[in-house]
Formats: sequence, C-alpha cells, structure tokens
Amino acid sequence: MSELRQDITSGDWVIIATGRAKRPRFLDEQKKPRTASPIENCPFEDLQKSGNWPPIIAYPNEKNWQVVLLPNKYPALSGEESRCAESSLCGIYHREDGRGYHDIVVTRDHVKNFADVSPVMARNIFDVFQERHRIMAKDSCNAYISTFCNWGASVGASIGHPHYQLLTLPIIPPHIVRSLAGSKAYFKKNHRCVRCDVIREERKHKKRVIAENEYAIAFTPYASKSPFEVSIFPKKHFPAFGETPKKVVYGAAALLQLVLRRVRKHVNDPDLNFFIHGAPFERSKYPYHHWHIEIVPRISVFGGFEYSTEIDINVVDPDMAAAMLRGEKVV
Ligand SMILES: [Zn+2]
Ligand SMILES: [Zn+2]
Repeated sequence: MSELRQDITSGDWVIIATGRAKRPRFLDEQKKPRTASPIENCPFEDLQKSGNWPPIIAYPNEKNWQVVLLPNKYPALSGEESRCAESSLCGIYHREDGRGYHDIVVTRDHVKNFADVSPVMARNIFDVFQERHRIMAKDSCNAYISTFCNWGASVGASIGHPHYQLLTLPIIPPHIVRSLAGSKAYFKKNHRCVRCDVIREERKHKKRVIAENEYAIAFTPYASKSPFEVSIFPKKHFPAFGETPKKVVYGAAALLQLVLRRVRKHVNDPDLNFFIHGAPFERSKYPYHHWHIEIVPRISVFGGFEYSTEIDINVVDPDMAAAMLRGEKVV
C-alpha cells in the first residue's frame, strides 16, 4: 500500500510507493564498475601551475599540502570584495548582482574520495570547511554559504579527482527560507527545535537509525524524497556549522565516512551529492535552526509528475533503506 508522508520541517509531501517489492530490483541489476578518471591531464595534479595558486587555505601548509581551498577557475559567482550585491528591477523582473565566492577544496590523492580518506584527512577537510564559513560570515554582504560534494559525472562532477565546493551567496536560497520558516513555526508552537524532536523520535524506535556516535546520529528521514537519502545531525543543538565545536563536527564527519561506505557497499556505488544544510550568516536570527548533512544518492529519475507537483515518488521505504544500510539482509 502506498503512503503519502509529510516532512515535518519543510511541509513537503512525498509518495512512498514500494508496491509489493521488498528489496528494490534496481539494486540487483548489474552496474558498470566505476572507472577511475585518468590521472594524466588531471588539472588537480599540478595545482601550482593551474593559475589559481596560491590557495586561500592550505593544510598542513602550502608546500606539503594535503587539503587546499582555492578560488574556482570557472566561478558561478564573483565580485569585488568592497561592494555588496545590488538588486534592481529589469522591467517587471527582479535581479541581483552575481556577487559571491566560489571555492573548491581539493585533496591530494587522485582517487580517494571522502569515504576512503583517513579519519585525520576527513577532519582536515571539515576544518577547512569551517574556517571558510567563519571567514565568509565576517563579510556582511554574504547571506548564505552552500557547501557540497558532487560525486560522479551524472550529478555534476566535471573532474574525477575528489573535490568539494563552497558557494557564498548574497541571498538566502528559497529552499533554505522554507526550511527556516518550518523550523520557526514549530519552535513558536512547541517551544522546542523540530530537529531535536526528530532526533529524539528516531532514537526512540531506531527503525530508521543507521549509526550513531557520541556526537552525531545518521538516519533515513521519515519523508525521504529519494531512495537511500540519509541525514546526519549533531545530537546537540547547533544552528551554525562554522561555530560548532570541533569534536562535534568530527563526530559528524566520521559518520559521513561510514554512511558513504555503506551506501557504496549496499546500494551499488551510486553517483551522489552530499551537502551541509547550515543556518544563514546572520545566525542570531535563526536560533531554531539545527545544522546537518544530507546525503542524496541519485537513483530516481525526476519525471513530469515530480516537476509539476514538487511531490517526489520514492520507491524505497526509508525504514527498509535504513535496515539495508545497517547491513541487515533484506530479501
Ligand atoms: Zn588528480
Ligand atoms: Zn535542535
């Protein structure tokens, strides 16, 4: 029996339509093994000559770098540091200057993605993310920073060498605005953070929990929009990613590594995106937000129904997705 589920924060609806199928068939269809991109001609092998050296941040240092943050050579946004974006009307339309920053974070190894880097490297990558968030937060022209990873050519990665991107925007994206409005409305009504309540609920019955450690928890959301979607939350309430204590961020990074390895193993190594869903920079305005990481394997095809209604059809029950990602046998 299919079911309509509503996301408690965004208000979005999703149709969970698993039919009679238990283990989804697409997982058994033979997938071509992922081939590593050729190292020859990889633009990240000789970054010093790439034209966008020196890095803005380098760990442990510029000479022996293992992780660097550089300006993107082909930025989606750019602008003068001294001027904020200006909005204006273009006829009846509203426009805004494309002022912002587009950074890439590159790790040294040509092959090892976030699932396979050492725990120390995983922490260093998150250190770089946090440092950039804090730098960008000081500039009052910036409204929001999007931190994400595209893993696989089908989800937007144009270079096979593992890397991450940070895009700083002069506006708060509508998706974030809606999510904040949902959190605020819940907080006003219940005097509690909606995500803290969701974490409590998920820990109570554990059906959708994949793993947890002292500082963070990973589970499949009740109203997952797509198969094997996973959220990772700090267990304690922190609105801004950049201001969260290191040990908590490291706890979330460790779970991200674990979840990515489980997804690769149990879901046939799909292309995927993961991103940090943080509060906008004027964080004092958003005490009810609870930052988290979302992992979205890109398995479903977006069709006419999804585009026309913004209701996704998820063919994998999130309860079963969690069981599979815990390594339980599902037939
Ligand atoms: Zn490379
Ligand atoms: Zn919370």
